[in-house]
Amino acid sequence: MRLALSLVLVAGALMGAAPAPIDDVLVIGAGLSGMSAAYYAQQAGLKFHVLEASPHLGGRMRSAKYPQGVGAEAGLAEFWEGNPALDIAHALKLPTDRGDTSFSSFWFANKLYPFTQDTNEQFLAFLLPGAERTKYQAWDKKMVGLYQRIQQRPIPADLFKLKDTSFADWLKQTSGLGPKGLMLVQSTTEPEYATSWERISALDGIAEWHIFSGKGTGNQHISGGNQRLAEAIADHVGRGKIEVNRQVTNVVTEGDHVTVTAMNPADYHFHQYRAKHVITTMPLFRLYEIQFTPPLSPKVREAIDTQTWGSYFTAHVIVDPAAKKFWQVKGETILPMLTGGPLGVCYEGESQHKGAELLNLLVTGDWAETYNARTGSLDEVRRQLSEALDKQWPGFSKHIKQMTFVRYHPRAIASWPVGRSRFDALSELMRQPQGRIHFAGDFTEGTHSDGAVRSAQRAIAQVAKSEGKKWTPPKAAGPHEAGTRAGHK
Ligand SMILES: Cc1cc2nc3c(=O)[nH]c(=O)nc-3n(C[C@H](O)[C@H](O)[C@H](O)COP(=O)(O)OP(=O)(O)OC[C@H]3O[C@@H](n4cnc5c(N)ncnc54)[C@H](O)[C@@H]3O)c2cc1C
Repeated sequence: MRLALSLVLVAGALMGAAPAPIDDVLVIGAGLSGMSAAYYAQQAGLKFHVLEASPHLGGRMRSAKYPQGVGAEAGLAEFWEGNPALDIAHALKLPTDRGDTSFSSFWFANKLYPFTQDTNEQFLAFLLPGAERTKYQAWDKKMVGLYQRIQQRPIPADLFKLKDTSFADWLKQTSGLGPKGLMLVQSTTEPEYATSWERISALDGIAEWHIFSGKGTGNQHISGGNQRLAEAIADHVGRGKIEVNRQVTNVVTEGDHVTVTAMNPADYHFHQYRAKHVITTMPLFRLYEIQFTPPLSPKVREAIDTQTWGSYFTAHVIVDPAAKKFWQVKGETILPMLTGGPLGVCYEGESQHKGAELLNLLVTGDWAETYNARTGSLDEVRRQLSEALDKQWPGFSKHIKQMTFVRYHPRAIASWPVGRSRFDALSELMRQPQGRIHFAGDFTEGTHSDGAVRSAQRAIAQVAKSEGKKWTPPKAAGPHEAGTRAGHK
């Protein structure tokens, strides 16, 4: 009886509640894409709100800190130059550390190839001597030309056909690269798309390689942790416009506006918002957690269902400082290092304390899927990683003080299987609004965080245009070419 009475009271309160005011746009998700959308919405003079399901700003951009005085990225590791996220970071005066080379040391077939040279070119000369280098240079030159051609719309038909061949097969059949050259391309690019080079199309492989082509591209990391970018944008646009603990459950388009319902997972209270437009920024497969009225179109569903993904898993290995000798050559770090195996990419973490260091393992692809399997025990993951570390660096495990793991949803990053491409009609469809719903987030564009920001630019430009505001995405500062290692940090 009491329950029935309180239900009546709650229903009465909801029915009597004044309708929420109408914003120009509601942004779902406060990852890099959602926060960039907020930044650009403010520039465009739009009224907006951001609704984030978790208590955390930044989404997959997350920086871990440990009581031992060490820290490392638990998500997005570095921004490649040319990423418009860096333009926002610089506009907000966030300091960055620079990595001025695009290649990394790597460990292959039990042999270390350390990047101790000053430039990409010197590293390549060491790695690929003689005829291998000549073949590599000729192939890379061809790749520069192909990358320029995939900017054309429509994409030339001869190139578009490459979506039906795997990157691996295409390279093996047509590149003329020798075994070491192929190994370089495979081990350098696989951590980027976080799956096997056999599972992405040659067309998408061309897009991925451009980071390393020619003189290569430098990268930056926000000093103190990439997550600071999300916090800085929140301070810039005003924290009152961003609500955390708001998990969107329903999106209903009615006439000239959209009504959005969101649940607070902390107390199961539901809240309603209204806006003329909605921008979704979560990974596309998570759109299925929301009920849309009218429903997502069958073509949109097809676009989502036929996209695949790459997997990431992070292990933070806290060690005593003596372990640093394993990743140093003549007192200089050789990290980051690609292992192509169970240890993924080894990065050096940050340490504010003399008593501890952190080795950050960003594990990718099939290995990440294995470690991410919820049925697998973390003790077993620790055992496997310790064994692999000892195999690579005999005696390393004696220095381990603690290992901490960050598991991701198996779909950590977007990828396009052979037969699909980020350049095809289905992908283009996701970049067009369905009525008042605009789809953004990295999964609508590419495999990196630049796609997250570019998608926000595109969606805000679409909303601004339909609201009669003049706003065009800022001109990108453009990539700087990789320089010398001397400029590192
Ligand atoms: C381990 C790892 C390493 C990476 N390294 C790099 C790198 O070095 N360089 C690089 O460029 N990229 C890297 N990436 C990719 C990069 O992190 C992503 O491209 C980028 O962060 C995606 O941002 P986003 O805003 O599109 O999506 P997300 O960060 O996933 O943000 C989506 C947000 O939506 C929220 N959300 C979901 N559902 C709802 C709902 N129903 N209601 C409200 N909110 C919701 C989520 O909680 C989340 O905060 C890495 C990714 C991982 C996982």
